[in-house]
Amino acid sequence: MLAQRTVLFNSSGTAAARTAAKAAATNGKEIIDLTAGEIWTDLASSVREGAIAAINRNVNRYTDTLGMMELRHALARRISAETAQPWSADEIAVTSGAKQALFNAAMVILNPGDEVLIPAPYWTTFPAQIIIAGGTPIFIGTRQSNYVPTLTDLVKAVTSRTKAIVVNTPNNPTGAIYDREALAGVAQLAMDRDLWIIFDECYGAFAHAPHTHHPIVSVAPRARDRTLIVNSFSKSLALTGWRIGYLAGPKAVIGAVKALQSHTTSNPNVIAQHALLHYLECGGPAYQLQLQRQVANARELGLSILSTLTSVPQPTAQGGFYFYLDLSELQRHAKTHGREFSADDVVKKLLMDAGVATISGTAFGDPAGVRLSYGINLKLLDKALRRLTATLNELTF
Ligand code: PLP
Repeated sequence: MLAQRTVLFNSSGTAAARTAAKAAATNGKEIIDLTAGEIWTDLASSVREGAIAAINRNVNRYTDTLGMMELRHALARRISAETAQPWSADEIAVTSGAKQALFNAAMVILNPGDEVLIPAPYWTTFPAQIIIAGGTPIFIGTRQSNYVPTLTDLVKAVTSRTKAIVVNTPNNPTGAIYDREALAGVAQLAMDRDLWIIFDECYGAFAHAPHTHHPIVSVAPRARDRTLIVNSFSKSLALTGWRIGYLAGPKAVIGAVKALQSHTTSNPNVIAQHALLHYLECGGPAYQLQLQRQVANARELGLSILSTLTSVPQPTAQGGFYFYLDLSELQRHAKTHGREFSADDVVKKLLMDAGVATISGTAFGDPAGVRLSYGINLKLLDKALRRLTATLNELTF
C-alpha cells in the first residue's frame, strides 16, 4: 500500500530513545532525560518582542519563498561578518530549520547513485536525507582520530561517483571540532576532486575554549563556490520549535532551492521570520552570551562528575552540548573475558538502573558510543550524571 521509498527511511533513532524514556517514566520511575537535542531556557526577549509585534501588526501573508528580503539582507550581513567575505541576499535561502536546508541541498545537488562522504558517528538525518534524494552515503570512521576524519581516510573513500562531503562541526553527537588544518584539508580535497562541501555549523555558537569554531569558507575562501553553509537558530538561540534556519551558497544552488521550496513548504513561518529579523537588528549579543555561559557551566559541572568514571574515558566535549562516551575499550575488555554487550545494552541499563535516558551510538552509526545532552538544568544534570557514573562504574557485563 505504501510507496517503495518508505522502506528507505525510519523515524530517527533519537526519537525512539525519547519514546523509550517516556515509556519508562509512565511506569512510575523517575527518569531524567538526557536525550534532547535542545537547551532548556527562556526565549530571547527580542525574539518574543519581534513575534508579538508582528502578530499585533496583523502580519499573516506569504512572504517570498526564500524568506523576506530584509531578513535575507540581515543574514547576509551576519554571514559576511562570520566569514570575513561579502555575502548577498541572493546567496541565502531562509528555511524551516537546518533540516530543510540540508534536505534542499541534497535534493538539488544529488543525482541517483551519487556518493556522499559522511564522517561517523553522524547525525542520523544526514544519511536518511541523502538516501531519500537518491544518493548513497559512504561512512568514514573517525574514532581513531578524535572523531575528525583523517585526510588519508577521506582521500581513500573518494571515487568517481563521489559528489559531496558532509562536514558537521561542532559535531553531533561527538562534540568534535575541526581545526583549521582539518578544514583546509577537506577544502583542498573538495577542490581537487570537484566535490560539494555540505558544511553544517548548527552548533557553531558553542565552541569550548581552547577550541574555536571556524567557518570553512573563512579558512579556504577558494572553496566558497562549492560550499553549502547550513545553519539555524534552533541551537544557537534555543529556538528549536520555531523552525528557522538557512542555506547559504552559490546563486545557482539558491535558485534551484527556491524552485524546490516553492513546491514543498513555500516560505518559513512568517512570524518566526519577523522574530528573527528583530533579534538580528535589535537583539545585541547579551542573550547568546548568557546561553553560552549556561552551556559552559553545565559542561564544567558535567566534566567534573564524569572525571570519576573508572571504566570509560572522560569525553572531550569540544563543542555543542553533548558528552559522547566511548565504550569501545570496555567492550574489548569484556570480549576478552567471553562477554559481549552493545551500546544499546548500556543505554537500557542506564534507563532501568540509573533512571537516566541517553541515546545509543547505534542511532549515530556507532555501536560503541552513548550520547548525553547537557542542555538541561544544572540540578537535574548533576543528579543524572552522578547516578549514571555510579551505574557505569559498577558495570559488569
Ligand atoms: N544539523 C545537526 C547536526 C543537528 O544536530 C540538527 C538537530 O539536532 C539539525 C541540523 C537540525 O536543526 P533544525 O532543528 O534547525 O532543523
